[in-house]
Amino acid sequence: MTTKSLSLHNIFCLARDAMLNAGANQENADAVADTVMRAERDGSHSHGLFRVPGYMSSLLSGKVNGDANPNMQFRTPVALHCDGDHGYAPLAHRRSLKVLADAAIVNGVSVLSIDHVHHFAALWPEVETLAMRGLVAMACVSYTPMVAPFGATKALYGTNPLSFAWPRPKASPLVFDMATAAMAMGDVQIAARDGHAVPSGTGLDKAGNLTTDPAEILKGVLLPFGGYKGSHIAMMIELLAGPLVGETVSFASKMRDIDDGGVAQGGQFILAMNPEILSGGNWVEQSEEFISKLTKMDGIRLPAERRYQNRKNTGPREINHDLLKKIDAKLA
Ligand code: NDP
Repeated sequence: MTTKSLSLHNIFCLARDAMLNAGANQENADAVADTVMRAERDGSHSHGLFRVPGYMSSLLSGKVNGDANPNMQFRTPVALHCDGDHGYAPLAHRRSLKVLADAAIVNGVSVLSIDHVHHFAALWPEVETLAMRGLVAMACVSYTPMVAPFGATKALYGTNPLSFAWPRPKASPLVFDMATAAMAMGDVQIAARDGHAVPSGTGLDKAGNLTTDPAEILKGVLLPFGGYKGSHIAMMIELLAGPLVGETVSFASKMRDIDDGGVAQGGQFILAMNPEILSGGNWVEQSEEFISKLTKMDGIRLPAERRYQNRKNTGPREINHDLLKKIDAKLA
């Protein structure tokens, strides 16, 4: 695989120019480009520049509104709704997460329901942002059916990621962010592109047989992580990020989609909780003792540790040359 070195600033500029070129306004382009740059910075490769051709396709097709003006409204003091105006999710996040955090700090808890949005990114930025305000946070999104529920061989669930963050006053938040598919589809696509096998249990081929060939899984289905237990978490996310927030489940989102290479419209569920209010004030000592014990166990690495380590490197990143050619071709 040949690569080209790009600074983080140049990654941001490339993504921003790609969005502007495809018809997004400055505010929407900046918000998406920032998400892309942060994904590359942290080594979340499947949700960085890799997604830019898809981001562009859906702006060019007119499916995604490049002038989206996300609009927020409190339905109760703790239930915040954001209508994403058919744009990409990052601008809706920029506008609503601060307001959501303010509400949770005052009330102990707040919930954000987002509809009419296209989420094409990793989910850790949302929960990390809230944890940096001292809040415990959870977020989930359902994403186009490509996962067979446990026992089935046909897709019904999306890859449905779930993220969680726990604030730590003297350290970076404890964060996990994971697809409920055994492997995120972006990673299967990257494995197929680079010719790597994937672990058994990742997915089935078109005939419903287990395979380690990512190209065959792309023609078949992914499997949920953790057997029926992971399958039920994926099911929960369909409901939380769909009907609960006023949106559709992933198969209905897919049915109305125009299949232009970008992500279908959907919703997002984000929960923020203030541990100071909920615990009465003794949460830090308890949780830090627990995390310290966990960290000291042999074989343990905390989730997000890899990303935080990558983040310390402010130098250039190696970007796949073919991907850059693909973006350039769309820019031309
Ligand atoms: P991974 O399986 O790579 O990682 C899942 C979590 O586990 C991460 O928090 C990771 O931390 C942590 N982790 C990984 N390896 C270890 C280990 N050995 N020990 C301890 N913790 C570990 O992520 P996925 O492939 O499941 O998901 C990738 C991304 O795809 C996510 O950001 C997700 O939000 C995104 N996604 C987005 C979708 C969308 O529709 N927007 C759809 C599906 C997925 P660390 O990050 O530090 O490695």
